[in-house]
Amino acid sequence: MAWIIDGPELDQVICIFDLKLPVRIQKHQGGSQLLGTHQLKAATEAPTPVFSHYYHHITVGARLTPWRASRTIWHECAHAKQAEAEMSKSGQPFDSLRSAQAFWRMDEKPSLGRYVDYPHEVEARRYEDYAEFITPCV
Ligand SMILES: [Zn+2]
Repeated sequence: MAWIIDGPELDQVICIFDLKLPVRIQKHQGGSQLLGTHQLKAATEAPTPVFSHYYHHITVGARLTPWRASRTIWHECAHAKQAEAEMSKSGQPFDSLRSAQAFWRMDEKPSLGRYVDYPHEVEARRYEDYAEFITPCV
């Protein structure tokens, strides 16, 4: 069953997370094991990009059911919020961008245990349930 993005619903998700950077969602053709991904990407090749030059690049499996795709978008937008929080902590977008991305490159931190148990993953999974209880954001 195919899915399409519901623009108004996505706007609500962005509003609820209070995301400051643009969100771009792309379907990926990967296997069913890969639900989605989140990456911060620089929109320009400027030597020292500022915060506003970044955007959230989110991929969601094209073959997921609409139900699963919606939960995945919530999950990945939670990571987007985490990324913005990391960036605003340091006040140095470029450096904090790097540190945020390094934090999520889990294969470099095997000592932290299983991927699914990482704090940012546990937090993002909690937001998946919001997909069924979406409320208007004002
Ligand atoms: Zn995740």
